[in-house]
Amino acid sequence: MSDQPTPMMAQYLAIRDANPGSLLFYRMGDFYEMFFDDAVQAAAALDIALTKRGTHQGEPIPMCGVPVHAAEGYLLTLIRKGFRVAIAEQMEDPAEAKKRGSKSVVARDVVRLVTPGTLTEEALLEARRHNFLAAYAQVRDEGALAWVDISTGAFQVMECSPTRLAPELARLAPRELLAAEGAGLDDLASEAGAALTDLPPGSFDSAAGARRLSALYGVETLDGFGSFSRAELSAMGAIVDYLEMTQKGKLPLLRPPVRERAGGAVQIDAATRRNLELTQALSGGREGSLLSAIDRTVTAAGARLLERRISAPSRDLPLIHARQDAVAQLVDDTRLTADLRDALARVPDMDRALSRLALERGGPRDLAAIRAGLTQGAAIAQRLPGDAAQLLRDAVRDLIGHNDLIDLLDQALVAEPPLLARDGGFVTPDYDADLDDTRRLRDEGRGVIAGMQADYVARAGVQSLKIKHNNVLGYFIETTATHAEKMMAPPLNEIFIHRQTTANQLRFTTVELSELETRILNARDRALEIERGIFDRLRAAILQQAAQIGQAARALAEIDLAGAFADLASGEGWTRPRVDDSRAFQIIGGRHPVVERALKRKSEAFVANDCNLTSGETPAIWLLTGPNMAGKSTFLRQNALIAVLAQAGAFVPARDAHIGMVSQLFSRVGAADDLARGRSTFMVEMVETAAILNQADDHALVILDEIGRGTATWDGLSIAWAVMEHLHGVNRCRALFATHYHEMTALTAKLDGVENATVAVREWEGDVIFLHEVRKGAADRSYGVQVARLAGLPGSVVDRAREVLDALESGEREGAARPAALIDDLPLFRAVPPTPTPARVKESALDARMKDVHPDTMSPKQALDLIYELKSLT
Ligand code: ADP
Repeated sequence: MSDQPTPMMAQYLAIRDANPGSLLFYRMGDFYEMFFDDAVQAAAALDIALTKRGTHQGEPIPMCGVPVHAAEGYLLTLIRKGFRVAIAEQMEDPAEAKKRGSKSVVARDVVRLVTPGTLTEEALLEARRHNFLAAYAQVRDEGALAWVDISTGAFQVMECSPTRLAPELARLAPRELLAAEGAGLDDLASEAGAALTDLPPGSFDSAAGARRLSALYGVETLDGFGSFSRAELSAMGAIVDYLEMTQKGKLPLLRPPVRERAGGAVQIDAATRRNLELTQALSGGREGSLLSAIDRTVTAAGARLLERRISAPSRDLPLIHARQDAVAQLVDDTRLTADLRDALARVPDMDRALSRLALERGGPRDLAAIRAGLTQGAAIAQRLPGDAAQLLRDAVRDLIGHNDLIDLLDQALVAEPPLLARDGGFVTPDYDADLDDTRRLRDEGRGVIAGMQADYVARAGVQSLKIKHNNVLGYFIETTATHAEKMMAPPLNEIFIHRQTTANQLRFTTVELSELETRILNARDRALEIERGIFDRLRAAILQQAAQIGQAARALAEIDLAGAFADLASGEGWTRPRVDDSRAFQIIGGRHPVVERALKRKSEAFVANDCNLTSGETPAIWLLTGPNMAGKSTFLRQNALIAVLAQAGAFVPARDAHIGMVSQLFSRVGAADDLARGRSTFMVEMVETAAILNQADDHALVILDEIGRGTATWDGLSIAWAVMEHLHGVNRCRALFATHYHEMTALTAKLDGVENATVAVREWEGDVIFLHEVRKGAADRSYGVQVARLAGLPGSVVDRAREVLDALESGEREGAARPAALIDDLPLFRAVPPTPTPARVKESALDARMKDVHPDTMSPKQALDLIYELKSLT
């Protein structure tokens, strides 16, 4: 074997080397083939067969392949597993290559790099979620983050210092993050679940970035879009450069970049998002998150908008009010809302259809999606009354005025077009005279064939003779093999030209049939060509109005979201919160939307609770104590979620709510709940707590759940104590602080504005009953021992725990210095008694109880209670 690669292999290697870092899908006929190490990796990732083909430098070449028609599914798997894929197509008809000589190879080139952040195919995307590609740039000490969803064309940028990067990435959850080589963002990217793509410094050059952007939008200067910092230009430029590289020159439709104002949204860091389960549950999925509990949108674009709102609640008071006004109107007019939601349910995903059309990946159904979206949009605009809330009136403005385009699409497109333009059949009859004529010719040809068959049956005297069609032979005449002698002899063999003999059949053609076939084929090809031309014209007409269509799509998403919030509010009895720029935080009858929903499934009721952290000169902080399982975490989180919902423009799960706008939201849970993350959990907890103490301003809302729990008791208590004092004295923010350190309840006497609250429980026969009611005051004890018993700890352990507890508590009362000393004083484990039989236990319990009974002093009610109690002991 010579070491010279075959011409095809040489081409393969050249293309592969020009696209490092990606698996190469190399098109060969109906397959994408992979070779060498690519094949080994892909075969393992896709669980498909690994074979061999030829040799290279004396070694067999590993190979695997996937059929082109099923490629999307395989692509999805590869992308999910972190691969990038370069797709090399055949750039000419193989017949062309043959003409150049028997050795020449079909020209191939990479037409696209598929990466996690650059997907557009419906099958590869989640309809109800964004697919962001982000880029982070730093120019001297300025940082900027730009991001784009190429499946919808949204393009945004913001100033972003390195310390703000983690929370912003947590909010956006981009699929892919672009950074300059050596920027050291590996950890940040993987925390945010984004694939990190390193680009050469040239991609991040800010001057080149400005040039790329100007070229993209066909403008002399970018001033019309706003003034951008160097870092912002660099980040946006990197995105455009990367898109040019991956889409091989076919740039997606990007809306002009919108600069996101710093401080426009509530600042929420990654830990808080995780902890509050805003868009993702701690278990990882969407189920169990706030988003999934409240999502009543009926369109995919509406669902994406909801996710954006929940991820970034607003700090723009007029905007919040405008959104609330729209929801309020729809709450009042339930008929209108039901009508609107009905119409919205028929609105397809215009954003994504538009983006596929722009990238030349669209088909007739994308044209139809634009038609249906604009048509429904116009109908929705008509339904909205003239005195509708401002936000809805603005939407109406964007929904009308598309009639010309709708008419054009209506006239040209059949009601339910096929997926692919390639096969034609999507243009209506009567739209184009030329097309109609050609189609007639094609169809008449088919009619003529029926007549021809009858004629041949008569001429050959063979009743079973048929004219058929397949892809290899085209049209042919078929008889059974029994007629061979007759058909192949004069005079019939002068008409019927033999083409093929199969096991039982003979196949022929005739001069007449060939001519007719050519006419039919020509007509068919011509019809397809005309249809393709019409497709291109319709596509161009749509793209010309891309900006207005994008506006209409956003208007529909806004209406959908307002309708969804209204439906939620009416269905669940939510109220409109009063949001202003005070430092109020007063919730009456608040509920946790996710926990309530879970309880409802079990037919259990949620206990509504009040919370008042209204702060003036002094900050208001509640210190919440109570046993485990009482509902502390639920209460803490529900108040944070109510703030999120209120500033997202929604109604809230409460009887009444007054919220002074929250600037930052922080939530932390003591490390014991965070074991899954596997780092030194106490360290993580302290780092995260430090972030709050360093950042929270006086408009922040802080939720701390069992901070300090991750270390020894006295350490933990001291840390919790000091954190509380800092929040009160330095941050001066509104805060809820849950703890099991009862010692901390003493702080209320020292710090103005700090109040004790507890989740009430009732003790009954040594058991606790959870009331889930939050009340003013401190919990009298922790009930941990009782809860342990409920959890099924062996009776002997529970009894012993109580003994230890009693000793510790009495020691505390007597001012013992060290708990360790107390424990030394406790009798060592008594020789464990032999496990008593159940009967003896019951007897002794009865005996014990009876010793305490003094009938002379009992009321009749107490006596009756006692009988019940004794009964339960037997
Ligand atoms: P803690 O933080 O005090 O240990 P949780 O907040 O985790 O307690 O609550 C424990 C369980 O109690 C929850 O899973 C929920 O089922 C129930 N619960 C909590 N709050 C309420 C409430 N207000 N009404 C009804 N059930 C509640």
